[in-house]
Parts: sequence; structure tokens; C-alpha cells
Amino acid sequence: MENVVTRFSPSPTGTLHIGGARTALFNWLFARHNNGKFILRIEDTDVVRSAEEYTQVIIESLQWLGMDWDEGPYFQSKRLDIYRKYISILLEKGRAYYCDCSPEEVERKRKEAMAAGKKPKYDGRCRTRNLGPGQGRVVRFRAPDFGTTLVQDVIKGSISFDNSELDDLVIQRSDGMPTYNFAVVVDDLTMGITHVIRGDDHVNNTPRQILIYEALGATPPVFAHVPMILGQDRTRLSKRHGATSVLAYRDAGYLPEAMVNYLVRLGWSYGDQEIFSKEELIEKFTLENIGKSASIFDPEKLLWLNSYYIKESDPDKLADLLLPFLERKKYPISDRNYLERAIITLQPRAKTLTEMADMMDFYLLENIEYDSKAARKFLKPTMIPVFEDLIEKLRALDEFTEEKLEKVFRNTSAELNVKLGKIAQPVRVALTGRTASPGLFEIIDILGKDKTIRRLERALEFMRNRKEKQAP
Ligand code: GLU
Repeated sequence: MENVVTRFSPSPTGTLHIGGARTALFNWLFARHNNGKFILRIEDTDVVRSAEEYTQVIIESLQWLGMDWDEGPYFQSKRLDIYRKYISILLEKGRAYYCDCSPEEVERKRKEAMAAGKKPKYDGRCRTRNLGPGQGRVVRFRAPDFGTTLVQDVIKGSISFDNSELDDLVIQRSDGMPTYNFAVVVDDLTMGITHVIRGDDHVNNTPRQILIYEALGATPPVFAHVPMILGQDRTRLSKRHGATSVLAYRDAGYLPEAMVNYLVRLGWSYGDQEIFSKEELIEKFTLENIGKSASIFDPEKLLWLNSYYIKESDPDKLADLLLPFLERKKYPISDRNYLERAIITLQPRAKTLTEMADMMDFYLLENIEYDSKAARKFLKPTMIPVFEDLIEKLRALDEFTEEKLEKVFRNTSAELNVKLGKIAQPVRVALTGRTASPGLFEIIDILGKDKTIRRLERALEFMRNRKEKQAP
């Protein structure tokens, strides 16, 4: 497709959540797939609810997910002159008018209409009054009284709206600010947006926007309204279903690749393929493959994708991502190479970076803490001779390769007539503090001779103390 221009136009009234991030992703992918342009526009005309810090959070979230924009961020609050110009055009054409009905009056009439079983819409009192600008006056769009407006949606097909159902919408508030439906049209028009891809909660706004395009003598863009995201209980996704803000997932140790891969499958599919690299998504993304039904947010699947991307990631890159998590735990890190080797052993086990940081403790802390149940069960006085023998043999070992380590353990097992399986778990507890960890020889190889022997000696002391206490 030629000259595609899409946009993501969040209102900075909250953090970027799962739904918004998916909208951004679809727009970004569609632009990239078509070698087009992706614009970021901040819709901040609601001065009361908009906050600068939310704009920052939205930008940080997009950057974290790796979505870059070619233009913007534009701010609607800085484009007021442009909206005013288009208001004058509509006023001149007779397609808009000033209205001085007070909000209370409008509300009263709405209620009356409803009570009479009629559609609660503005009664058009000021349509023919030819009012000019003035204190407390809004500008309304003059909607047609008859006919229908057809929304031809790429995803939903054609939807027809009766014009008589549509209100004479306020397009400029009494404080001079444009309203959403008007500003969005002026922006999409002046920014040359060719495709509007957004959540289907906006579908009822679309006929109103199409009428404004028509009144301005402009052709509307292509619309694609994406079905909602629901929680597992099939109600609209909200905080009740867990974290919904994108940065909360970053802070919980999710990788951006996992998040992007997860988000795209909320509504878009390519056969039954689940794993997509970003390059592959750019190559394959089309609007035709967006489904018609709502998608269900599944945290388990996101976790599965995250563990997949942790396994597949380059340890060097993971080390960079893991560092802030380790710093938060105040774990000392002096040797980058040591860290990366440790990471490799945890990649198959950790589902998030938070989990990985938790599992890192025995690699990074000098004095590990024993899990009390594990210590009670495995660091028993009967193991004292085994540990003594292991320490002696390991001291004499010049090279700590897996092969040589295995030989040491086998020899101790044979000489003291204790099964290898009975030795492994106590040693694991001595080295890591717990009963589950990466392979024993892998760990010993990474910890190295000094640390390994120090920890075995410490466990030995623990067992000797225990023996003394047991003695009658
Ligand atoms: N600011 C609107 C929102 O956040 C954008 C709607 C649109 O894409 O037109 O919902």
C-alpha cells in the first residue's frame, strides 16, 4: 500500500495500559509493514484530567516496547489555532453555529425528551438564532436531520447510522477548547492520516467524525475498529484482572519482546503461529488478519512467552536487563563474566527477571541463608564424613571441569559407600541454601574452587554444631 500514515493518539489521563499498547502496536506495525509513517499525538484537550506525567509514562512505555514514531509527539493543546481555523470554516459554511443554552437547560431538555420516550438529544434551539461568539457560548456542529451515514470498517464491515439519531455535537467548548470528535478530525485530516486503527469503543463516534469530514469537503480515512480485550470472566479488562499498565509488566520482570508478541496475538493471528520476532511481525502484519471477536487477556500465556524469550535471549542482553533488579536487591556484582555464566544456568528456570534475580542470591551473596526445612532434612551429622572427604578431594583437584568433578563425587560415593543421589542434595543445600537449583556441577564450575570449598566447610560446621547439640 502506498503512503500509509497511521497514528497513536492517547489521552494522557492515565498510564499506558494493555489495550492502548495494543492499539499503538497495530498502528505501528501497519505503518512499518507498508513503509509508511507512524505519528504520535497526545490528545490533551481535557485539561482537568490530563497530566504531563502521564505523557511521560506513555512515551516511556512506547520506547520500552520498541515502537518508534516518525513525527510527534504533537500536543492538541498546542494546536488551538488550527482548530479555531476549522471552526470558522464550518461556521462560514453554515455547518456549525454558536449556542448559548446553559448546560442545565440542555440537561433538562434531555430528561424531558427521555421522559417522553424520545431520543435525548439537543433540540436545536440555537440553530437559527445566528448568534456570534460570546461568554459561555459553545459551537455546535449542525448534524443532518435525515439520511444515513455509513461506516465502512475494515474489521466490522459496513455499519449504517441514522443521522436523525446523531446530536448537534458541541465541537468547541465555552472555554475555547475543541472537543474530541472535532479535534480528532482536524488532526487526522491535517496530518494526512490514511488509516485510523483504534478500539471499537470509538465506533459510535465514527459517523459523527465522518459527517464533519463531509462538511469540510474532505474524504475520511479508512477505519479499522479493533474488538475489545476482556478479562477471563469476559468483562472488560480492568485492574480487577491484574496489572494492566505496561510499565508494571516491565517492573515485574517481563521482556519487551514477550509483551509485543503477546499484545499482537490479542486480536491478530497468522495461522496458529504463536512466536513472532518483530521483523516477522512487520513482514506479516495486515488488517485482514485482525479477528472480529473480543480477545481474552491470559496472564499465563504472557508468562509462558516471557519464559520463552528469557530462554532465547542473549545472556549479555539479559545481564543488562537484570542489573536494575539485582541493584534493587543490593546484590554485589563485580564480575560481568561471572554474572553472565550464572545467567545461562538460570535461563531455563526463570520465567521473569524478578524470578531470575531471586534465584541469583547464592551466586552473588557470600553468606547464603539455608532454607531451614532443607537444612534440617539434608545437612545431617551423618553427612560429616562425606563432606570431609569431598573437601579433601576437591582441594586436591587442579581443574574444576564437569568431568573431573563428577569423578570426585563418584569416588567419594564408592569409598564411603553412600549413594551418589544421597550426596547431591546435601551438597546442593550447602552451596545454594535450597533443594532446587541448576545442575550441581554447573554451579560448582561457576562458583569456583574457593567459594565451593568455603561453603562446604560452612555446612560442615553447621552439621558439627548440630551433632554437639544432639549429644547427650
Ligand atoms: N484519545 C482517544 C483515546 O485515548 C483516541 C481515540 C482515537 O484514536 O481516535 O481513546
